[in-house]
Amino acid sequence: MRGLPAFAASAPTTFKHGAFEVTVVSDGHLVLPVSFLAPGAPAAERAELLKAAGQTAEQYNSPTNLTLIRAGADLILVDMGSGDRFMPTAGRLWDNLKAAGIDKGKITKVIFTHGHPDHLWGAVDELDELALPHAAFYVAGAEWDFWAGDNATRGLPAERAGFVTGARRNYAAIKQRVTMVKPGDDIVTGLRIIATPGHTQGHVALELAGGDGLIVVGDALTHPLISFRHPEWLPAADHVPDVAAQTRARLLDRLANDRSKLIGFHLPYPGIGTVERKDGAYRFVAVA
Ligand SMILES: [Zn+2]
Repeated sequence: MRGLPAFAASAPTTFKHGAFEVTVVSDGHLVLPVSFLAPGAPAAERAELLKAAGQTAEQYNSPTNLTLIRAGADLILVDMGSGDRFMPTAGRLWDNLKAAGIDKGKITKVIFTHGHPDHLWGAVDELDELALPHAAFYVAGAEWDFWAGDNATRGLPAERAGFVTGARRNYAAIKQRVTMVKPGDDIVTGLRIIATPGHTQGHVALELAGGDGLIVVGDALTHPLISFRHPEWLPAADHVPDVAAQTRARLLDRLANDRSKLIGFHLPYPGIGTVERKDGAYRFVAVA
């Protein structure tokens, strides 16, 4: 705990979805270079979208929205935030939960969408102790294998080699308590892992049954304008850019057809919305 106050704007949002109670809580935000956002896109069109998003400086703030799902006797956290070692503006998850009167000790299960720092590094505290020593952890086998394997540094810029060290440190910490999962697996009744590869090799999303559906998309859709209006543009953060673009196209088509809700980890807090078709592409409509 670094003792910083929780942001007033970060009070958790809770809503019912089918048999579930879903809460979105902020882990703070990342400060990222705007150059990350689809660097190869046509310059004029890209500049126009960035202006519309209010991202005209060299850096921008990217929210980090954690999803907590109450399912019967289970309290299930999706990803664990950045922890203490990634960026000073992130790692507020535990403080924000505490401020909202939610006891992290009651969390029974944690599902990871992928192994990037802002999703995984909160697994351990500053002493490398598990933040949730009694929880069960679920990681997609393909994602675990990628970070453990020799190809982990391939395709990553050298300055992000630390991502590999960090992923391995956090995965090692949960090793005794982890279950490998794959797309199609149900974690509890009505909560299913779905394939959304490309942002990372084994990136997964979560589908919650009920109503018109709800998909916790993780980093499959990261920007409120670019990811929806130009899913074919390639963000620098995607490990397998072409596959990530295919995943966005498929996911957007499905979300628009089904009128499902989505929760985006990096969409404007709390990142809850729906997808509408617009001018041959899509539009994110916040509903919180
Ligand atoms: Zn992320």
